Amino acid sequence: MIIALSGGVGGAKLALGLAQLLPAEELCIVANTGDDFEHFGLTVCPDIDTLTYTLAGLDNRQLGWGRQDESWAFMETLGTLGGEDWFRLGDRDLALHVLRSHRLRAGESLSAITDDIRTRLQIGPRLLPMSDDPVRTRLLTDEGWMDFQPWFVGRRAAPAVRRIDFTGAAAARPQGALLAALAARPRAVVICPSNPFISIGPILALPGLRDAIRASGAPVIAVSPIIAGQAVKGPTAKMFADAGAAPSAASVAAHYGDLLDGLVLEAGDLTPDIAPRCFPARTLMTTQEDKIALARIVLAAAEALR
Ligand code: GDP
Repeated sequence: MIIALSGGVGGAKLALGLAQLLPAEELCIVANTGDDFEHFGLTVCPDIDTLTYTLAGLDNRQLGWGRQDESWAFMETLGTLGGEDWFRLGDRDLALHVLRSHRLRAGESLSAITDDIRTRLQIGPRLLPMSDDPVRTRLLTDEGWMDFQPWFVGRRAAPAVRRIDFTGAAAARPQGALLAALAARPRAVVICPSNPFISIGPILALPGLRDAIRASGAPVIAVSPIIAGQAVKGPTAKMFADAGAAPSAASVAAHYGDLLDGLVLEAGDLTPDIAPRCFPARTLMTTQEDKIALARIVLAAAEALR
């Protein structure tokens, strides 16, 4: 079993590559839920949904987020009625949020709902929310404390981040099936090329999870989301700078510290100060072939570290 920890877009690309190479029962993908939020009474889970749409082949490649074949009648109508329209919900996407919210209110767990939708969309590998207990990322910015989505989407992550809080994390239980998978001697734990602060950070903040990863005995291998000092997308590089670190693969390795046994990174980003064993690769995933090729290198690195 390979356990892959993932945020949204960057993580989902590698998860898709891994899903092409591994039998479904050999892959367990763990989604960050710190980005989840309540909007118009609906529970929106952006990372779970990005993973779901990507693994189902339903992701919107033009937009780079959301669902394929999307239409926007709901948003347009909302706007004419004076509703807040800073967070865009496509019509098809909306169906998922309505259904999930309804089922959550009826008492079902987020993991059960996620698993049911995964099955209906014929996704093979397991997809686990990191926890069924709500965790909500909040950021202390130069403009004060902000909830995640108003900062990330509403303000395009512009306000500089001074501190990050994962509200609810201290009382949240890591997903039971994740702990079971860790206890069952996985071949590796893969940290996908996702934002280390806000996509992987909430997962690793769950009580006991770092210890459970270490106790699993599995090699832990990350793919750097920083390439040549830049993020492929989003605020990862800026957040390293805000934290006083150079945006680099070395900073990614330092951020994860002794949790990491291996780091897959762009050959040009190799520096002697990186502590875990390094595996140079082409880490930019544009095509389907790129995703599979990088996943293959990650699996080979995991074998080499065992
Ligand atoms: P979000 O929740 O949608 O913001 O997604 P993630 O946290 O999973 O992804 C954002 C991170 O993915 C950024 O740091 C990007 O640099 C990284 N990323 C996106 N595409 C790629 C890629 O093709 N290769 C690598 N190495 N990193 C990527």
